[in-house]
Amino acid sequence: MRCPNCKSKDIGKIGTSQYYCWGCFIELTITDGQLHLHQVEVDGSLSSLDDLFAEEERNIDL
Ligand SMILES: [Zn+2]
Repeated sequence: MRCPNCKSKDIGKIGTSQYYCWGCFIELTITDGQLHLHQVEVDGSLSSLDDLFAEEERNIDL
């Protein structure tokens, strides 16, 4: 599995279907074979980055 944002393979598991990219510090969640990307803001809230990626970039082959 690679981060679609920075192409890093340095991805750590932080929960069930939840991952964290140490390359660009975003959270990745897998739902129904699709990646959902979130950036953690300074106040701890999450903002979605899904709009920045095409659907095929977020598809995951398990
Ligand atoms: Zn990344």
